[in-house]
Amino acid sequence: MTNTRSDWEQRFQSLTLEGRAFIDGQYCPALSGDTFECISPVDGRFLANIASTDEADANAAVAVARRAFESGIWARLAPAERKRILIRFADLILANQEELALLETLDMGKPISDSMSIDIPAAANAIRWNAEAIDKIYDEVAATPHDQLGLVTREPAGVVAAIVPWNFPLIMASWKFAPALAAGNSFILKPSEKSPLTAIRIAQLALDAGIPKGVFNVLPGFGHTIGKALALHMDVDVLAFTGSTAIAKQLMIYAGQSNMKRVWLEAGGKSPNVVFADAPDLRAAARAAASAIAFNQGEVCTAGSRLLVERSIREQFIPLLVEALQAWKPGHALDPETTVGAVVDQHQLDNVLRYIQVGKDQGAQLIAGGSRALEDTGGLYVEPAIFDGVTNAMTIAREEIFGPVLSLITFDTAEEALQIANDSIFGLAAGVWTSNLSKAHTFARGLRAGSVWVNQYDGGDMTAPFGGFKQSGNGRDKSLHAFDKYTELKATWIKL
Ligand code: NAD
Repeated sequence: MTNTRSDWEQRFQSLTLEGRAFIDGQYCPALSGDTFECISPVDGRFLANIASTDEADANAAVAVARRAFESGIWARLAPAERKRILIRFADLILANQEELALLETLDMGKPISDSMSIDIPAAANAIRWNAEAIDKIYDEVAATPHDQLGLVTREPAGVVAAIVPWNFPLIMASWKFAPALAAGNSFILKPSEKSPLTAIRIAQLALDAGIPKGVFNVLPGFGHTIGKALALHMDVDVLAFTGSTAIAKQLMIYAGQSNMKRVWLEAGGKSPNVVFADAPDLRAAARAAASAIAFNQGEVCTAGSRLLVERSIREQFIPLLVEALQAWKPGHALDPETTVGAVVDQHQLDNVLRYIQVGKDQGAQLIAGGSRALEDTGGLYVEPAIFDGVTNAMTIAREEIFGPVLSLITFDTAEEALQIANDSIFGLAAGVWTSNLSKAHTFARGLRAGSVWVNQYDGGDMTAPFGGFKQSGNGRDKSLHAFDKYTELKATWIKL
């Protein structure tokens, strides 16, 4: 039976919210004693005081993580044993699904039904998938002359720090810590200052599952303090990041200024979703286009924020799109019927409303949504917006808004569509809708994007590598390719 909003409210009353850092198997305040307030965008309620960690805490956590790594207590455990413990961790996350879903929703505003059905199960699944893989991956024996033995082996990189964003707090974190832990590394997680609660909570679950002290640590706080300290740290081997392109570039500089740590970057996007006149089902394409911009309040790196529609079906397609958007109305995030929750904070809401104004000022036509909603709740809600008459040169087609604002661009030929689709600094994802098999493949090949979806938007599962071309980043989360980020390749050459 689905919980009602008042069930969730009651559940909240019984929660004790933990806001401290987690180092060496225990919760602890920031060494400075500093905290900051965690306020819910759902309705403005106070949630918790969060430890504001900084360089001193980074030094402590890295030392602990290094010690745990060198001891071999986790790194040298048999892969099958790490698997067993990580699967228990995934089970504990599912056993606490309701609590974690509630924390995720109150912290960053997403609808409770999404937290329950997507975020928490997906995080558990990422852990389970990587755990199950780790005792099935073999190293290599090279093709050598008769008197030589060449071994090509993978070893855990050491101390991994991950800096993650607020839009899918637990999923983004799990895409990093699941392969990193499965491979035997020690891990330090820095959640976004806007959504630290689930990261802090699962630290205890990791310990309960049997992950040894010091192997999984959580340092909440701000980017310019604890994030920067981890990125500049001389004893962090790998820095895994998901967030904006601007900060991703900064992290490359920090790595160069410190110990040349490996830096893996999952950054922003401005993804094209291209609907040809011969799409197999225009209504399905319209529904997917609406979902691609409204799901998770448009706070999705792969949001299909540039919708390219072939001119000959434009007049037919637009009413279908506007109708499909009706399913995406802001509602209180704890209401189980809600499809569009709250935007993460005032800054982000102001940003979205500013872009809507810029779209109007530059001559695009707002044909649906775009107003603030539900102000009486004290929460931060905005109606998903559609702009027609957008050109790819306009600001709303070039910059990542990270909110529910769709730019509709019309094209005449496949060549023109491809040129517009690729005319972006980003290259994270793209969609293409056509019944023509040859056109689908040719167009998909031409797209400069890490993920391409044909006759759907946002397909794939843990088996699909995920990441970007161009300024959308480097390296890949998910799939076995993710292990490349958290392991070093060693060639051992033995004279026989
Ligand atoms: P952000 O770049 O502002 O922050 C991301 C993280 O970096 C946060 O934890 C923040 O505290 C930290 N940070 C900020 N400044 C830092 C600094 N100087 N040094 C070290 N760390 C610092 O991004 P955001 O607003 O949290 O998230 C939105 C962005 O994330 C969007 O651009 C979105 O596209 C991107 N994103 C990408 C993917 C992907 O897989 N490619 C997935 C989700 C989100």
